[in-house]
Amino acid sequence: MNDCLFCKIIAGQIPSNKVYEDEFTYAFHDIAPQARVHVLVVSKKHTPDAAHNEDLTDQELAACIRTCARVADLLGLTEDGYRIVNNCGENACQSVKHIHFHVLGGEKLSEKMA
Ligand code: AMP
Repeated sequence: MNDCLFCKIIAGQIPSNKVYEDEFTYAFHDIAPQARVHVLVVSKKHTPDAAHNEDLTDQELAACIRTCARVADLLGLTEDGYRIVNNCGENACQSVKHIHFHVLGGEKLSEKMA
């Protein structure tokens, strides 16, 4: 999508600190980390949010979660655990309208979800 920040990051038009990439997903460090480790996993195919998941195939959608787990492994989060967060829409304060998952860890996280 022409005017989408994450599409531009995936295309290499905007720099990112890449962690992992495969056919369906791209993962990079969040520019404003909310935990010691904070990585974003984005679908390479553009769809605005999880409510529009029908824009993705099951394989493309599942790849997002698999990449979250892969990233956690790569960054040494698996043993102690981590959180996967998806913000969907206005009430969740989603700021970038391209489906993505936050992988948060590297420290004990708040018991509260928000
Ligand atoms: P959300 O609020 O769920 O839409 O998450 C969007 C995330 O994108 C926020 O955590 C931002 O800090 C992050 N972000 C925005 N611009 C960039 C960028 N250029 N590189 C990396 N992360 C970004």
